Amino acid sequence: MAHQADEADEADGETAVLAPGRQGASTLRHGAPPLAIEVVALRKTYRGSKGAAAKEALKGVDLAVPRGSIFGLLGPNGAGKSTLINILAGLVIKSAGQARIWGCDIDVNPRRARRAIGVVPQELNLDAFFTPREVLDIQAGLYGVPKRARRVDEILAAVGLADQADAYARTLSGGMRRRLLVAKALIHEPPVVVLDEPTAGVDVELRRSLWSHMRGLNRQGVTVVLTTHYLEEAEAMCDRIAIIDQGRVVACDDTASLIGRLDEKELTLTLARPLAAVPPALAALGATLDGERRLVLRYRPSRARVGEVLEAVRAHGLAITDLATAEADLEELFLRLTGQGAAADEPALERDARSL
Ligand code: ADP
Ligand code: MG
Repeated sequence: MAHQADEADEADGETAVLAPGRQGASTLRHGAPPLAIEVVALRKTYRGSKGAAAKEALKGVDLAVPRGSIFGLLGPNGAGKSTLINILAGLVIKSAGQARIWGCDIDVNPRRARRAIGVVPQELNLDAFFTPREVLDIQAGLYGVPKRARRVDEILAAVGLADQADAYARTLSGGMRRRLLVAKALIHEPPVVVLDEPTAGVDVELRRSLWSHMRGLNRQGVTVVLTTHYLEEAEAMCDRIAIIDQGRVVACDDTASLIGRLDEKELTLTLARPLAAVPPALAALGATLDGERRLVLRYRPSRARVGEVLEAVRAHGLAITDLATAEADLEELFLRLTGQGAAADEPALERDARSL
């Protein structure tokens, strides 16, 4: 990321807002914008090279990441997540639209915008001939962090690389490289940290320590954005989620609401006596038989209460020996929003409304 050094320096005093080192922490409290990231009508078309067709990777993305959140950017492979992240990181040039990081427009104040963000890239792009300590020192230098303010040892320890501080990067395992990339993203103490597919191919132990580290940073006020195609990960980690598919944001809401939007529960009743067929009145409610003894009913909590559903069952003289409910999860929502069988150009939310 050598290009970070080639911009004219900002001698306008405002840089203090993003000054690295200990002052970084106060940045999180004073003069902090309500949105950590704001993206408006962002587009990216990759020009096709060597006869390949051009690829429209982002088709007008709007996104608002509230300060202090753990925000998930969820979508299948090829959705455009890395393109979006790399535009924010200053690694990919957008085709149109605007992006602000910590209130700094990436066109107007590219250097300040980049200082506000630390990106852990999807690819393990490390120079094999530097040691972790050197990598962090170089990175700190690029960001203008004064030597005395550099917390190299502290950060190496925090990511569990204290013992490898002086080992060549090429001797590090994949997991260690990933951790070094995390350290590299944190060295200038940015108020916004973005991790692109941080747990793809990562073992359970590293995943856990990474998440606890990110939660710790978040508690100190750091806004964390992560991309993932693991639904469970987004659901477990994030307080707000945007779903991106084929270059468009198809849903964006706080995690509970996103799941609540499915508004569907499944009630499974185990019957005292086997049934040959679903009584017509229950069939009209959408009940189906699973084997002879289990009656499965899908209902919408906002429209019908479970008590009413049970009343209907009792009215048919069916004795129940057991009852279980299951809530729809993000996976189902995801399939509905991005699901197959729907015309690709239809707005996803309309598809969703119809399929419910
Ligand atoms: P994600 O990170 O969600 O998997 P990407 O942003 O990597 O998605 O890719 C979005 C789309 O853009 C994909 O179709 C991908 O093939 C294409 N793409 C990504 N990078 C380039 C590139 N440098 N040149 C051409 N096409 C690209
Ligand atoms: Mg990606």
